[in-house]
Amino acid sequence: MEKLVQYNKEAFIRMLRRQGIRDESVLKAMATVPREKFVGINLLEFAYDDSPLPIEEGQTISQPYIVALMTGALMLKPGDRVLEVGTGSGYAAAVLAEIAAEVYTIERHQSLAHQASVRLKELKYNNVHVLCGDGTLGWPENAPYDGIVVAAGGPEAPRSLIEQLTVGGRLVIPIGPSTREQTLLRITRINNNEVEFEELGAVRFVPLIGEEGWREIEEEIKPKLKTVSIAKPAPLSDLIEKSAIHIPSIDTVDLSGLMKRIGDARVVLLGEATHGTAEFYDMRARITKELIQHKGFRFVAVEADWPDAAQIDHFVRETRMEPTEEPTFARFPTWMWANMQVLEFVKWLRNYNKQFSSPDKAVGFFGLDLYSLYSSINSVINYLEEVDPELAAIARKRYGCLTPWEADPATYGAVALTGKHKGCEQEVVEMLNTLMRKRLDYAAQDGRRFLDALSNARLVKNAEQYYRIMYEGSSESWNFRDQHMFDTLKNLLDFHGPGSRAVVWEHNSHIGDAAATEMGARGEINVGNLCRKHFGDDAYLIGFGTHHGTVAAASDWGAPMEIKIVRPSHPESYERLCHDSGLNAFMLPLVDQKQRVVKELLRPRLERAIGVIYRPETEVASHYFNASLPLQFNEYIWFDETRAVDALGPEAGIGMPETFPFGL
Ligand code: SAH
Repeated sequence: MEKLVQYNKEAFIRMLRRQGIRDESVLKAMATVPREKFVGINLLEFAYDDSPLPIEEGQTISQPYIVALMTGALMLKPGDRVLEVGTGSGYAAAVLAEIAAEVYTIERHQSLAHQASVRLKELKYNNVHVLCGDGTLGWPENAPYDGIVVAAGGPEAPRSLIEQLTVGGRLVIPIGPSTREQTLLRITRINNNEVEFEELGAVRFVPLIGEEGWREIEEEIKPKLKTVSIAKPAPLSDLIEKSAIHIPSIDTVDLSGLMKRIGDARVVLLGEATHGTAEFYDMRARITKELIQHKGFRFVAVEADWPDAAQIDHFVRETRMEPTEEPTFARFPTWMWANMQVLEFVKWLRNYNKQFSSPDKAVGFFGLDLYSLYSSINSVINYLEEVDPELAAIARKRYGCLTPWEADPATYGAVALTGKHKGCEQEVVEMLNTLMRKRLDYAAQDGRRFLDALSNARLVKNAEQYYRIMYEGSSESWNFRDQHMFDTLKNLLDFHGPGSRAVVWEHNSHIGDAAATEMGARGEINVGNLCRKHFGDDAYLIGFGTHHGTVAAASDWGAPMEIKIVRPSHPESYERLCHDSGLNAFMLPLVDQKQRVVKELLRPRLERAIGVIYRPETEVASHYFNASLPLQFNEYIWFDETRAVDALGPEAGIGMPETFPFGL
């Protein structure tokens, strides 16, 4: 028996090395601690397998590799003092005690704490001190600690633990939105006010239950012993629960009530709280289908560049396709439109459109954004090559003014501002004016093709200005962009004729009324705000929100897409109120300010906005802002737990199909 364990231990250490554990002091500690003494007698033969094993109270002794990884991540020196939360069997505490001077460990289960304490004494780990209690509050009497390790997964890093670190001290803790998956974080205390976060990988731990950990999970784990520790929902959450219209599933939810509330609105704006959540796309698709089928909505306009969306438009209306020089939706962030959720909708729309005798009657798909300076230039030139080759040559010459900055249009703005370059404003304005003068000639040949060319020429003019304005400040360029999107929407409505109706898909930050948020105070406008001014009650604004889950987003502009974990919502946010309602998904009308729930929601609170970039490490500063939800939206749609879109872009490793959406 003794020999066998010895043999297993060598293989055990080799296995840890293979997995990337390099720290010799950690490997030595792992080789020294007799893991077989910490597992139940019936599990002895698995003591040196690399797997977590069950212990009493439904808990687990951690997987050896994870214990080694976490111990290494603490970067301990011999004289260090360490706090462990989640003693469990006491195994990890023993490993820590091999390296550090003193180990303090806390376990919430009395029986486990007692057993571990006895065991560690028997093994002569006199430098380990076991306490039974709530480890999320730390053990202040012995603080500060050079390292704190938490062996259970919590919703966020407990403030008490961070406060009990020395300056330079490390907290290693699994953080995640659910009890199913977490990210292992190392949080280093830089000074009294600042910490630094590092992600060490995906892990899976039992839940951290306590004052600064999970609460409600208690109920799931021990149904018989619940009640005391379950947070009672705040009254406003109760009101939300009572007023909300439950969404049992996106496919089957009855939308007749929503259709009544929308009534005769000419524009319905559908938001999203992130740029990469599947449920938001699916629900917007469901509502849009209903608006098209039952209310005769004529087109969908989205937060994408005009030329990219034009490819989709050709596809859904089965019209003649011009060969494109650039692949569709190839510009960052590709996943926003090149995803399975959009593809499903687009396929549906193409099918739906088959009933119409002419493509002009079919429902269209357009882009409102203005980041496509150069592909728009190409589109205008291609169009002119066909209808007026002489003018095409002039266009080439005029637009040629912008050619040197193709790789980085933002630098054009900088150069134009310094006065070293005269800029290209005159050229792009003249080109637009020339096209407008030809309206009667050209539009008679093919109105839609002319609309496309004219929209691109307008976009070029605005993009030229946009890149110059960017240097004046973020509010100016934000306003300019949203004004462009609104103008494009209005032009489209004009094109489709009096009484035509549009669905708009954009981020909440564009479609929720800016006047009801911090943006308004900064003098910022947006599409929702402009629609309300222009259409009054004929604009219906729907915001979307979520508590936690996963999202497709990047860490920086231009960086690769990642599937990131959305942290549970802030305790002071609208999202938390919705979460506390206990409903998974719902619609909440916000128009009637005499209604109590609406009245109470009016007081501004935090709201979360995740864009193409998500930085959970600095979430409050980067992603929360103040808003009054009922003033911002006419209605709010909630999905408590959400998941990332299924990207079709290169990030998904498939490579952008050139034929999207045509080949699928
Ligand atoms: N380090 C342990 C693994 C324990 S599993 C080992 O090597 O065996 C995590 C433990 O954390 C469980 O025993 C669980 O009861 C405990 N736990 C969860 N929340 C806690 C809290 N707030 N305070 C103390 N212990 C907690």
